[in-house]
Amino acid sequence: MKITVAQTAGFCMGVRRAVEMALDASNTSSDSLYTYGPLIHNPQVMDVLAQKGISTLNQIPENSKGIVLIRAHGIPPKEKKALWDAGFKVINATCPRVIMVQSIIEKHAKKDYVVLIIGDKNHPEVKGLVGYSHGKGHIVSNMEELDMLPDFDKAVIVAQTTQDTIFFNKIETWVETKHPNYKIFNTICNSTEKRQIETRNIADKNDAIIVLGGKQSGNTKRLFKIATKTGKIVFHVEDISELDLSLLSPAQSIAITAGASTPNWIISKAYREIEKKLQKKNRVSNALFKIRDFLLHTNIMLSVGAGCMTYACSKIQNFENIFIHTAIAFFYILSMQVLNNLFAIKSDRYNNPDRAELYKNNYILFAVITCIFGATGLFLSFTTGIASFSLLFVMSILGLSYNLKIVPPFLGIKKIQRIKDIPGAKTVLIATAWGTVTSILPAISNSGNIISSAIAFTFSTGLVFATTALLDILGIQGDRITGKETVPTFVGEKKSILIIKQVLVSISVVLIVTSLFKMIHNLGFFLVILPLLMLYITIVIDKENIKSRMQFRFIIEFNYIIAGIIAGII
Ligand code: SF4
Repeated sequence: MKITVAQTAGFCMGVRRAVEMALDASNTSSDSLYTYGPLIHNPQVMDVLAQKGISTLNQIPENSKGIVLIRAHGIPPKEKKALWDAGFKVINATCPRVIMVQSIIEKHAKKDYVVLIIGDKNHPEVKGLVGYSHGKGHIVSNMEELDMLPDFDKAVIVAQTTQDTIFFNKIETWVETKHPNYKIFNTICNSTEKRQIETRNIADKNDAIIVLGGKQSGNTKRLFKIATKTGKIVFHVEDISELDLSLLSPAQSIAITAGASTPNWIISKAYREIEKKLQKKNRVSNALFKIRDFLLHTNIMLSVGAGCMTYACSKIQNFENIFIHTAIAFFYILSMQVLNNLFAIKSDRYNNPDRAELYKNNYILFAVITCIFGATGLFLSFTTGIASFSLLFVMSILGLSYNLKIVPPFLGIKKIQRIKDIPGAKTVLIATAWGTVTSILPAISNSGNIISSAIAFTFSTGLVFATTALLDILGIQGDRITGKETVPTFVGEKKSILIIKQVLVSISVVLIVTSLFKMIHNLGFFLVILPLLMLYITIVIDKENIKSRMQFRFIIEFNYIIAGIIAGII
């Protein structure tokens, strides 16, 4: 059975922006936080916001204080003013595309145009749009209503941003034939249009379609309608747990699509659940998947990768004494990654629920593993010399204090009290720690050449930075819920992808040039495969909707092991 996830499934730009604004406000402000009406139409996201202390305000009180976020759908201008008058600080999370429709309406209403809004009467976006028409607005939901309207001297037609494109095309024809004097603006958001087109296509090509999204979400209901018209088996559920998966058994191919307010973790969960059910049919692949998940969850594969990277970094510096540092890297990275996973249980509840469950249920065991392996790494580094031991010791202390409040209260710094609070800290610190343990520690005990050590450090840190940031992109929504720690949650997905590509190209150039000039072992030429492979994966992740995070993690982490294999051969 084949499972396809629609590339357009999940948060659209406007919804993502609104949710990020709400989470950012909650992570940075101690004021009471409200959304005026549900921020978006998705109960799971609203639950997360409620857990973060963001409540929903359904009526505007006369006097109040705190911060109110205006929903992605927008509100009428009168209500916005009422919020200000009540004493709230208002954060406008209205989608910029909805703001554009509001401006078209306001501009034409001021010039005495009648405003025809094609949309659902009860939808909050439409209610907000009508507010900008200064009493000249009419809401039209079907062709009959349109035909019943009187002839106007001048009228402007706009659409709710999530309207059905085929219905709007009919209205364009109606204007052309009956009212060529009316102005018409196709204000359907291109994200909606693409989502609807893709839903039609995947529904045509698959036996069963699962539409994920809030039961109140207009755009999700429309996707369901579009898919149903193809005559295929279609289910609309908010969460995959609502669906009896045995109903999917007759299908040879399943497509998953989702409304604009459905978060990634709901889509990944649906994919995982269906994938698990399929695995039951094939014992071999089931066992292989279990081994893969074990290696990834316990970080054994990643730590072997750290050993391999150390081996490769030592070899490009022409060191002899390699294996002890390979072992130090293995134990140190295993200890720190397990610690990292213990700290990340909260965000893993969304990004990687299986891992969260494993670490939550075996908290003590993993805490003990962290201590034993950390101590083993320190002991081994002690045998290589006091300087490398001291450096590893300081790095371990930094890792342990990552989540602790280390800024004394008398300094009055509220926003950044822990290392964790520094924007992007997690990604940068992981990369620097890897760079140090894989190339600087061996260089210290081998009295290495400063230039070749700097090149090895740049290669290792750059590659790990790109890899970590890429994995952070896949888990960005869960990370945002728990606060800004990663580079993608700080600078956003698009900029992160650009930074990752630049880093990968830079380290490829560094490896080629320095190998050419014999500044490092000619192994450097061959190691270029790693950043190039990562570059390819980055391009894929940028273009496609990632369905199985585990699959990508496996490929990405295996990249480090390839470094060791190449170093062993050359
Ligand atoms: S569907 Fe389009 S208009 Fe509506 S919130 Fe999303 S990006 Fe904005």
